[in-house]
Amino acid sequence: MILQHSPAVVVTQLEAIQGDITCLAVDAIVNAANQSLMGGGGVDGAIHRAAGLELLAACSKLKGCATGDAKATPAFRLPAKWVFHAVGPVWRGGAGGEDELLAGCYRRCLELAREHHAKAIAFPAISTGIYGFPSERAARIAVATVREHAPGAEVELVKFVCFDGQTYSIYQRLLQAG
Ligand code: ADP
Repeated sequence: MILQHSPAVVVTQLEAIQGDITCLAVDAIVNAANQSLMGGGGVDGAIHRAAGLELLAACSKLKGCATGDAKATPAFRLPAKWVFHAVGPVWRGGAGGEDELLAGCYRRCLELAREHHAKAIAFPAISTGIYGFPSERAARIAVATVREHAPGAEVELVKFVCFDGQTYSIYQRLLQAG
């Protein structure tokens, strides 16, 4: 008799929450970083302040990161285990490949999750702050990319962390729409 081992099917739970991503005790939080990876404003500044100077030292060894890509470091003083530093595109009207670059951030973070055995991961709304990407368009890309790639990366829980109420209601609507 031949025993067949079918691969486990991972069902990923997606949820939206409103709050500060630096407080979450998940396996990995995602940072909306810039190409230098040496810290900045917005969520990047909050993550570096909360994680401590060791994070900056770890980032300095990574030699930057291309737009649409992401790199991992430990999370040091944060309650999470890992920080995946993703570099989102600056919004320039939408004809410069911004959608694909933003999708690339989410995809690469899910690949990093798989490599680091991170089952629960939290994303901020990458590019929608200082980088000016329209919130609804960015949220649609985020949700679609995560829905497509999270199960294959064996990620079980994805939290979309919204800093403001408007972003939160966009994500809630998109997630309810299934
Ligand atoms: P970007 O340069 O990629 O636009 P920002 O940090 O300016 O990055 O903004 C990305 C998103 O992160 C925005 O929606 C912003 O409101 C949000 N944000 C800022 N601080 C935090 C935080 N502490 N936790 C979660 N989200 C945050």
